[in-house]
Amino acid sequence: MEKKDIRSYTFEELKTEMEQIGEKAFRSTQIYSWLHEKLADSFDEMTNLSKTLREKLNTEYEIRMVTMVERQVSEKDGTNKFLFELYDGHVIESVLMKYKHGNSVCISSQAGCRMGCRFCASALDGLARNLTPSEMLGQIYQIQKLSGERVSNVVVMGTGEPLDNYDNFVTFIHMLSDEHGLNISQRNITVSTCGIVPNMRRLAEENLQITLALSLHGSNQEKRKRLMPVANKYELSEVLSACDYYFEKTGRRITFEYSLVQGINDQEEDAKELIGILGPRNCHLNLIPVNPIKERDFKKPTRQNAEKFKNKLEKSGINVTIRREMGSDIDGACGQLRRRYRKK
Ligand code: SAH
Repeated sequence: MEKKDIRSYTFEELKTEMEQIGEKAFRSTQIYSWLHEKLADSFDEMTNLSKTLREKLNTEYEIRMVTMVERQVSEKDGTNKFLFELYDGHVIESVLMKYKHGNSVCISSQAGCRMGCRFCASALDGLARNLTPSEMLGQIYQIQKLSGERVSNVVVMGTGEPLDNYDNFVTFIHMLSDEHGLNISQRNITVSTCGIVPNMRRLAEENLQITLALSLHGSNQEKRKRLMPVANKYELSEVLSACDYYFEKTGRRITFEYSLVQGINDQEEDAKELIGILGPRNCHLNLIPVNPIKERDFKKPTRQNAEKFKNKLEKSGINVTIRREMGSDIDGACGQLRRRYRKK
């Protein structure tokens, strides 16, 4: 029988689980702390538990590891990119970015992705499987251990569509911000979605304080469809009203992401249409000059044109930034390191 993935139980779930095997509640608190605060990777490390209990745990449960197989360090800005292997051999990537205000980790939510965005390297091979809560947490825990740095911000913007792995994702958020774990403030967590409308609305009702980022990438329905197959399923107007609903329910300002692709969505008319969409909304716009992948013929605009685009929006009162490029000297774009590794 497969052992149970003990690091995926929430604090409450672990309590129930331990009660069922006849252990007192305080034992479960101790074990949770070993798993999520002290970041133990084996039951043997849990020295305040009896040997008998440790053995019992060992026969029924396992601490599923994400194991580092490669690490790249940017000489330009200290960005670290990690390739991790999961217990069943799939690989995922995660990134550590160091900013003045703290350390931010970008994690994957799925091995692969089935959303098929045209410019995205993660989409090229489709979805392998969803990640469990322990595998999402494990990326952050391992990075903290390997780098010796405290992580203060988490963005779910790596490979995968988090809202396509909804239940595991929501459990992960609860555990990451649990006071018995790393206790990362929900206000320091951002989740990015390509716009799965029903789950955006569900998320709005979870009573969370995380920031929702929407991948917009096109200023009207037709343009969005050209870059993002998911737009065939959900009209832009529905996506935007789901964003409004999220803001209404949580009071959290939406971040819009817009990858600038030369000649495709970086023209004057695009800026105009964007102003029409964003002007009336309390939001932030993040422009990301597209990171070209060799499988597709998309180019990023020149720095000058990107600035021009940005200024146009700014003049109309839009709160806008061009995303600073981090780690451009290492396998930059999302999913490229994973893809290169899988080919080998
Ligand atoms: N599935 C989620 C999170 C994935 S990636 C989503 O779609 O939002 C995070 C952001 O990076 C998304 O806005 C995505 O569209 C963008 N992105 C992916 N590949 C890119 C590339 N090659 N260049 C620029 N942005 C890219």
